[in-house]
Amino acid sequence: MALIVQKYGGTSVGTTERIEQVAKRVAAAHARGDQVCVTVSAMSGETNRLVELGTAVDPGAAPREIDVLLSTGEQVTIALLSIALHKLGCPARSFTGRQAGIRTDDAHSKARILNIDATRLRSQLEAGEVAVVAGFQGTDTEGNITTLGRGGSDTTAVALAAALEADECQIYTDVDGVYTTDPRIEPNARRLERITFEEMLEMASLGSKVLQIRAVEMAGKHNVPLRVLSSFEDGPGTLITYEEDGMEQPLISSIASNRDEAQLTMAGIPDKPGIAYAVLGPIAAANIEVDMIVQNVGDDASTDLTFTVHRNDYERALEIVTRIGEEVGASSVTGDNGIAKLSLVGVGMRSHAGIASRMFEALAGVGINIRMISTSEIKISVVVDDKFLELGVRTLHEAFGLANEA
Ligand code: ADP
Ligand code: ASP
Ligand code: MG
Repeated sequence: MALIVQKYGGTSVGTTERIEQVAKRVAAAHARGDQVCVTVSAMSGETNRLVELGTAVDPGAAPREIDVLLSTGEQVTIALLSIALHKLGCPARSFTGRQAGIRTDDAHSKARILNIDATRLRSQLEAGEVAVVAGFQGTDTEGNITTLGRGGSDTTAVALAAALEADECQIYTDVDGVYTTDPRIEPNARRLERITFEEMLEMASLGSKVLQIRAVEMAGKHNVPLRVLSSFEDGPGTLITYEEDGMEQPLISSIASNRDEAQLTMAGIPDKPGIAYAVLGPIAAANIEVDMIVQNVGDDASTDLTFTVHRNDYERALEIVTRIGEEVGASSVTGDNGIAKLSLVGVGMRSHAGIASRMFEALAGVGINIRMISTSEIKISVVVDDKFLELGVRTLHEAFGLANEA
């Protein structure tokens, strides 16, 4: 007998018919004799609808109330899934985040799970019944409802798996595994049998939304056996592996892309110690995260500084940089929120030279201009014009032969 945690995303529970399909899958696992703890997202589109309702009343609504509002989406699906399970004769009970013992910090809309008191869930499972837990939510130490950030049900699933010491955490979604790139952008993308935890972490941080980054981080920390599967068809999915075995790793495992960033440039600033701090200090003080940073070597006593921030922070960052620009006497301050980031990810990159030049050659071949570059041991990212995202992904997918069996 195994203990498994299953998570079903928004599309998988998007209609009552789909919820009944999910119930069949859960009931089948239960019938095999497994202990099953399920967590679900809100029905697809519901969280967005709730966000719109809140902002329609007041764009500056109190974060505490927004979390009360957003958490209702998942409360609907736990009840519907439990009802569907009962209809199939499968014993089940729904649990809100609080009832499931999920404690978080008090950072509304991006709360971190501190611990899970799994006593109630354990006795539910030991009684031979399915536990259906609301994803994406918890309560802080004061009892206020919190949410874990968009895509946060993945994190709920992994945290439950860690707390229950599950044999496997299964993330059921609308694709049948992790692909060489987003299959919606490149139809020739190929499902990966397995991917290393490190690669998955890079992919999540570079914008592949198949798993929330916090979920991947937590899985790594607790060594949670994690698999991504389809809710619509049977198949092996993709296993996230934690140890690289002796096998030769593929050079490039996947291509990630996103349009989540914006670029800011301050040109003609004095080239002297402390200038990067003068610009980036106030950005950090405003709680704006900076991703890529490039400082050019100026030809005289001045230099240019370009950096990227999340697109949601663009207006605020531009305001700050404009103000600083005046203070330090910059010749110009410009911004652009029409950018995209393309990234190659692969642990095999560590031991191979020349990947970057192959990447640049492929992009140049289709006339894509690279604006910024950043690298780490297992990834290379470039910033390009937003309009080139799809072409860039397809070109790199082809150039690195990802469509062919590795
Ligand atoms: P869920 O609602 O189940 O959480 P998401 O929409 O959050 O599902 O994540 C699944 C989506 O992630 C897929 O529909 C796919 O378009 C996208 N995606 C992006 N990159 C990848 C990738 N490399 N492999 C698989 N899916 C990816
Ligand atoms: N319902 C939340 C969202 O749409 C959480 C999740 O689906 O994982 O972001
Ligand atoms: Mg998701």
